[in-house]
Amino acid sequence: MRIVVLGAGVVGVAAAWYLAADGHEVTVIDRQSGPALETSFANGGQISASHAEPWANPDAPLTILKWLGRADAPLLFRLTADRRQWRWALQFLLECLPSRTRRNTVQCLNLALYSRSCLQALRAATGIEYDQQTRGILEFYTDARAHARAAQAAELIRAHGCDRQVLTADGCVAIEPALAPCRRRIAGGIYTATDESGDARRFTQELARLAQARGAVFRWGITVEALLAEGNTVRGASCRGGRDREPRCREAIAADAYVVSLGSYSPFVLVPIGVPAPIYPVKGYSATIAIGDCRGAPTVSLTDLERKLVFSRLGERLRIAGTAELSGYGTTLDPVRCNALVDRTFDLFPDAGLRESAQFWAGLRPAVPSNVPLVGGTRYRNLFVDTGHGTLGWTMACGSGRALADVIAGRKPDVEFAFTSGG
Ligand SMILES: Cc1cc2nc3c(=O)[nH]c(=O)nc-3n(C[C@H](O)[C@H](O)[C@H](O)COP(=O)(O)OP(=O)(O)OC[C@H]3O[C@@H](n4cnc5c(N)ncnc54)[C@H](O)[C@@H]3O)c2cc1C
Repeated sequence: MRIVVLGAGVVGVAAAWYLAADGHEVTVIDRQSGPALETSFANGGQISASHAEPWANPDAPLTILKWLGRADAPLLFRLTADRRQWRWALQFLLECLPSRTRRNTVQCLNLALYSRSCLQALRAATGIEYDQQTRGILEFYTDARAHARAAQAAELIRAHGCDRQVLTADGCVAIEPALAPCRRRIAGGIYTATDESGDARRFTQELARLAQARGAVFRWGITVEALLAEGNTVRGASCRGGRDREPRCREAIAADAYVVSLGSYSPFVLVPIGVPAPIYPVKGYSATIAIGDCRGAPTVSLTDLERKLVFSRLGERLRIAGTAELSGYGTTLDPVRCNALVDRTFDLFPDAGLRESAQFWAGLRPAVPSNVPLVGGTRYRNLFVDTGHGTLGWTMACGSGRALADVIAGRKPDVEFAFTSGG
């Protein structure tokens, strides 16, 4: 089959890889000049099945209220006049019901665990390098009550196949000695030895190269404006631009099937043809610091639950990422948020790296209120979605791509997951 994948972030490129492996003629279209130049550019780097519990959980409404009005709040709703945003926020509140949270956690966990094994298999088969670390993820807590609550919640994750170890403060330092300077502030931790980390951008670039070697074609600088639907079939993607063309030049790109992986922008092509896509951008920040000769940077990927920050060692760099802001499609950098990332880093790890080398970035998580991504078919027989991965797009990209290739081939995917369908 000729399949067009719309979007060359980590999700679209992973789908293209598995579709090319199935022998399809794959073309990937993206408005940027290369892979992973939007949300997959500088994320937190964690492959974290252990973080399957969505933001929409019973504690979230109170936490959001507590942080309301604080410019450096880790989680911030800045409501605007956009009706889509209000609808998303209300749906988010509904997903905070305990029964919904439980269901969403299990869905995300299943896909994340499957995805981690797909990534490991892909790595073994191709030798792909992306500054990966396979030393687990350690969550640490500075509040004893929060640690006790998390230890209880870890049970659900453990019961579904993700082994999480509850640790004392000394246990945390034994796993990551870089935590020693802040040992007295740590109440405890939870360690998932099987989780991983790595540079999602480097991975996406390398995988695009490997997919190209398998015959996939990448077309850069092309903006998808609409999908052209007729009856229950998509006939083409109406596009603008192209590297050697007039930016206003239009073409309709036709194929036998289409996969939408446009991240936060997916609703703009799906909703006009009646495909539900409750995706809204949730802005996050990262800082990348050169380590230089400093000796105090962590190597185990860490999550600081108090500030909702993650730390991942990417070769000779340390990536710090976090904050969630529901404020629309802007990606301008707010200095208060940028400084909050580095201040916390050097507060915890005084010898982590070269502060003045910090490079800041902001990206838009393509978030659905439940955090359960949209993967599978639609009401159109040849239109598929692989999008809405929110906080876990890097974690879930390989599994989503592998499973979608199965759905398209009419095979039963190897993972228990609520795939979308036309029904
Ligand atoms: C601060 C931060 C930290 C994060 N940390 C983690 C983490 O530690 N672990 C984890 O698993 N996930 C993490 N995430 C989430 C993860 O980065 C995303 O879920 C993932 O990158 C989404 O990938 P994507 O391919 O769906 O979207 P994108 O990477 O945004 O790709 C979409 C592509 O579509 C293209 N596009 C959009 N519209 C059009 C159009 N009209 N025409 C043509 N092309 C178009 C874009 O150019 C882009 O290349 C983090 C996100 C942020 C912001």
